[in-house]
Amino acid sequence: MHSHLILYCLIFIVAGSYVDGAGRWRYISRHTGVNSTQPVDKWRDEYPKCGRHNQSPINFDTSRIQPSDTLQHIFFVDYDEHPPHHAWKIFNNGHTVVMKGNYTCPPQLQGGALVDKYEVVQLHFHWGEEDFEGSEHRVDGHQYPLELHIVHKKRVHDEKANDDKKELKNENEDLNLAVIGIFFDVVSDENANPNLDPVTQALERVIKPDEPVDAYLPTFTLQSLLPKYRDYYRYTGSLTTPPCDPVVKWSVFRQPVPISRQQMEAFRRLEGHVHDEDGQIQTVANATETRILKNFRPVQPIGNRIVSLYSSRSASVRADVHPGGASEAQGRKAESPLEIQKSRATTIGSSLVGVLPLLVLTQL
Ligand SMILES: [Zn+2]
Repeated sequence: MHSHLILYCLIFIVAGSYVDGAGRWRYISRHTGVNSTQPVDKWRDEYPKCGRHNQSPINFDTSRIQPSDTLQHIFFVDYDEHPPHHAWKIFNNGHTVVMKGNYTCPPQLQGGALVDKYEVVQLHFHWGEEDFEGSEHRVDGHQYPLELHIVHKKRVHDEKANDDKKELKNENEDLNLAVIGIFFDVVSDENANPNLDPVTQALERVIKPDEPVDAYLPTFTLQSLLPKYRDYYRYTGSLTTPPCDPVVKWSVFRQPVPISRQQMEAFRRLEGHVHDEDGQIQTVANATETRILKNFRPVQPIGNRIVSLYSSRSASVRADVHPGGASEAQGRKAESPLEIQKSRATTIGSSLVGVLPLLVLTQL
């Protein structure tokens, strides 16, 4: 049973290699030649979806967002699990830093009115040059200095496993993502967030772009990055980088997570690409010219989309969850047992015994 489970999970790792964010585009508008790479306000010229509907990020106008009766608690299944041998890949793609755990069975999102189950693909960050900017989503116009995105891909339905290769190809083409957004708020260095240390220390190894490294992160799990309180904003939007596919169910936590000034600076030391007038990547000796200092997309029109808020029953008595406010020091050990499911063997394994041989035949 155990080996079947591992095989099953490997299939989905193979099927999920995308959304790395590399490409011929950039954030900052700068006068260059006709063939230059696309600054953020021109993305739509080369990537038409960036100019269409249902784009992200957006501003959350809290005066117009009501707690939802239909949204539910999100279950972060296996978020407290380490990948085997604590092995992570860390990659500076010139736009951001991307981290991938070498999981055999990636952690999942379940519940939260998502209908489907979603498996972790990668995580990455967006930040600014100063503390008053950086996050992609905003709350009542307020921008946090850093926003983490944990990207999940919809797990292929078990019942579709018997379909032929064409069906599977369509499934993979039809991207269906769930992204968790987490704001960070700067606190004094003595109140630094120790859970973030493995990340900021690893950043020192990927200062230059395009040189992925293998990292051993023995104390790091996805769960260590989550805020204590899990109230979230939910809406349907897009990737915030080209090609801007409108395929994302966004869940953005209301409560920010603390980060120290020193930890914040580790992100601002990362170097990106500089392009010449023909859009080719240039090598520039002066590192200050190449730093990634503003890798956030401006907020996009909401249009007729509805933004909902999941608010747990006790939210009204909390003092530290108001949007835009500085986060309090968070007791990161306290976790509701409801939020951690260790039930993968029963939720996945029991339903797969019969279909596993077919899965292997049709997908590998
Ligand atoms: Zn992102």
